[in-house]
Amino acid sequence: MDKALDVLVIGGGASGLAAAFELTRNGRTPTVLEAGPLLGGAVRRHRVGGLDLDAGAESFAIARPAVRTLIDDLGMAEFVVTPEPGSAWVRFAGGQAPLPVASWLGIPSRPFARDVRRVIGVTGSLRAAADRAMPARGVAAGTTLGFLVRQRMGSRVLRRLVEPVVGGVHSANPEDLEIASIAPGLPANFLTAGSLAGAAGAMRGAAGPAGSAVNGLRGGMFTLIDVLAEKITQAGGHIWTHSPVAGLWREENFWHVSAIINGVASQLTARSVVVAAPAQAAQMLLTPLLPGANWPAAALTTGVLLATLVVNKPELNCSPRGSGMLVSARVGGVSAKALTHGTAKWAWLAEAAGHNQHVLRLSYGRGSGDLPTADQFPRLALADASDLLGVALGEADLRDVALTEWAAVQPRTAPGHAAAADTIREAAQHLPGLAVTGAWLAGTGLAAVIDDARRVARDLPHNSTSSSRNPIQLEEDGAYDELA
Ligand SMILES: Cc1cc2nc3c(=O)[nH]c(=O)nc-3n(C[C@H](O)[C@H](O)[C@H](O)COP(=O)(O)OP(=O)(O)OC[C@H]3O[C@@H](n4cnc5c(N)ncnc54)[C@H](O)[C@@H]3O)c2cc1C
Repeated sequence: MDKALDVLVIGGGASGLAAAFELTRNGRTPTVLEAGPLLGGAVRRHRVGGLDLDAGAESFAIARPAVRTLIDDLGMAEFVVTPEPGSAWVRFAGGQAPLPVASWLGIPSRPFARDVRRVIGVTGSLRAAADRAMPARGVAAGTTLGFLVRQRMGSRVLRRLVEPVVGGVHSANPEDLEIASIAPGLPANFLTAGSLAGAAGAMRGAAGPAGSAVNGLRGGMFTLIDVLAEKITQAGGHIWTHSPVAGLWREENFWHVSAIINGVASQLTARSVVVAAPAQAAQMLLTPLLPGANWPAAALTTGVLLATLVVNKPELNCSPRGSGMLVSARVGGVSAKALTHGTAKWAWLAEAAGHNQHVLRLSYGRGSGDLPTADQFPRLALADASDLLGVALGEADLRDVALTEWAAVQPRTAPGHAAAADTIREAAQHLPGLAVTGAWLAGTGLAAVIDDARRVARDLPHNSTSSSRNPIQLEEDGAYDELA
């Protein structure tokens, strides 16, 4: 096996690249195989109206340090930016208002704050404050976020605040999301603080004033992917796009994968493998290896459709709804679940777009029901944006539009997901040299994904046997897309 690779990484999204970067820091030589033409997965770029924009993730949560640490390790600290002042708004049945400043996932940490009362009224605040008077017991396994919020703070907090925010972040209803998967730190904070409000304050953690619970990167989050790829290849790693992996098996103490590399069926051998593909692909590759794993709940994913508009509209210069609007599912007449006013949120983007130019991103898909169809755009997005921003937008204002469908990237963390994920991790531990990571195991969001990927890569045992630096030979016309 003199041609065995050191470590194969399957999937070139944030998790695969973060794992590969960490491997290079530990003296390993990773080879990343990415199915698609572009790296980044949910952090990839697209070009709309002459601007390079994030097609997926556009910010990162700062309450957990993982993304910021990676940015520092990559030497990108100077590009970190905070959003412009002015928080996002929430549209609920019967009204709209700025999102309360002191809140986490929509859960208010100060139920009587003026901005909370503006959304849920005095009655809602009184009910939410009852949380502080109730005893805080352990959160049972499988408890959903919706259940806990309703029980502790009442249905107004749930419907007007938590549902819209969670719908925007997780594309699902909080009644369907188990706490153990989307907020594993919440139960401990709940017990320590003695209330859900206190736990929300603790979860918000390091975050500062309104709008600064997240940071971004000047130039877009996709630049993180560019720099990761650059550092990996500089350190001797290899990255291959157009390379879907179709099979994974272990034989004679080596890992073998079958992959279609730029249309050519190939087999590769490696000492270790990191599976960093999304749920369906990971399940396809790992099922024969992990017969005891509990897959079905873990493999559920939810679809999201994004419509990105670049419009010429001076009336939007005043940022009428701050950085955007989250929409409750109970609001009629609007199909979008969220609108991000990109040029109001990020100063660098406003500068790049130019005078009177605005980038608006509307997202569709709450985890149930059909997504709108392509023929409904741009009409539907213009109508929704006009309604949410209170500024009439027509096709004459539109400079460009792009539709991006994210078919299966958001893991739907229904009750039982965390337990299923644990069985998969445990079963994988018994196979030497195999590591599994990705949002479907770690949880949605770059902070969770990057933290998990780097940890998994650090824990991968080092195999001292010599391995080939780059055994993938160019065949035929040598047209493989290696990024170097
Ligand atoms: C629209 C959208 C907006 C988001 N916004 C934010 C945000 O603002 N902030 C935030 O923190 N998080 C955000 N997220 C979540 C975050 O982007 C994801 O949790 C994270 O990027 C997932 O990374 P991943 O590597 O686990 O998966 P993915 O990004 O899905 O990457 C997996 C990669 O594996 C590849 N692959 C699949 N099958 C194979 C195969 N057989 N062989 C080889 N490769 C394969 C895929 O092509 C893909 O590139 C957003 C997600 C979406 C969809």
